[in-house]
Amino acid sequence: MRLLTAEQFATYARRQIKAADGILADHGRSWGNMCGCGRLWPCPVAATCVRMREHFLTRLALVEATVRLPVVRPGPVPEPVVKADARWLPVRPPTGELGESALGSERTFSGST
Ligand SMILES: [Zn+2]
Repeated sequence: MRLLTAEQFATYARRQIKAADGILADHGRSWGNMCGCGRLWPCPVAATCVRMREHFLTRLALVEATVRLPVVRPGPVPEPVVKADARWLPVRPPTGELGESALGSERTFSGST
């Protein structure tokens, strides 16, 4: 079994879709419930081509949406940088009766206490 690259598969899928479109041009609903080929709508040929077209459109969308990411190798994890003057931001207590009565309207926390 031969494996295809993404580009080769995309080319193959586009050819299959184009072939299905070519076949479907001769088939189509005409005069009531009949296909252009004279059989009842949908004729097996049209149904197969529509399924094949949808199959390859879905696969083509997956292949074309795929982005190659760079290879990341495991290595030392850098230590997080802690700034000497890092402080907590002002914290507002939750609004409501409990927050306002228990904590006051606004408090500021600092790491140096
Ligand atoms: Zn037909």
